Amino acid sequence: MPSVTTQAIVLRRADYRENDRMLTLLSPGMGRIEALCRGCKRVGSPLLSASEFFAMGEYVFYAGKGRMTVTSCNLTETFYPLRDDYERLKYATYILAVAEAAAQPGERAVELFTLLARSLGRLAYGQRDKGAVTAAFLLHFASISGYRPRLHHCVRCGREMADDEIYWFDGQNGGLLCAACHEALGYAQPITAAQVRWMRDVLSVGIDKTSLPDHDAPDPLLCGYVGQRLEKPVPVKGLF
Ligand SMILES: [Zn+2]
Repeated sequence: MPSVTTQAIVLRRADYRENDRMLTLLSPGMGRIEALCRGCKRVGSPLLSASEFFAMGEYVFYAGKGRMTVTSCNLTETFYPLRDDYERLKYATYILAVAEAAAQPGERAVELFTLLARSLGRLAYGQRDKGAVTAAFLLHFASISGYRPRLHHCVRCGREMADDEIYWFDGQNGGLLCAACHEALGYAQPITAAQVRWMRDVLSVGIDKTSLPDHDAPDPLLCGYVGQRLEKPVPVKGLF
């Protein structure tokens, strides 16, 4: 019997028949997985918690007839506080949707899995501003997806940008724009020097180690930046 065991996080669930659910999961080794979770809605089912949003654990699948079925799960984390607090929940739902939009079947996703698990942990248990945690997720997500924003040089002329310059952010070209290039192009979003410092620091030491204030995180700008590059739209309604 072909059976597969892997760590995974539930990205999406959809009710199916009376007692079943279809799950979309993210596995570090296998990327996106679609699987049937049979009987999980029955009272007392050992798979009920494993078929909820954000559930993380070691899942065992039976792979047969072109379909994966969850046979058991050793649950390691439910990120339960996300369910209790609307503020935590809305940001967590958003980052889950971003991960879902990026994950591909059969494509390793070790970095994305680790980033998602840590970010959900910060949103569930941490005291940091939820928008700042989300901004940090998006920065690292952009990096592992191959479009880390350029924050030290102008994306158009390549000139090194000093710490105290007036900055513009050119999302299309993936980074900062100097004042002269902004004038020539006529587009780009304004961004403050504090926001640039915050992004540079978080990319270099991580959000847990930065001493810069959470309110300098440019979360709406990063949502737009990453959102433009995702294959399918992720709603940001109610986030800002
Ligand atoms: Zn320039």
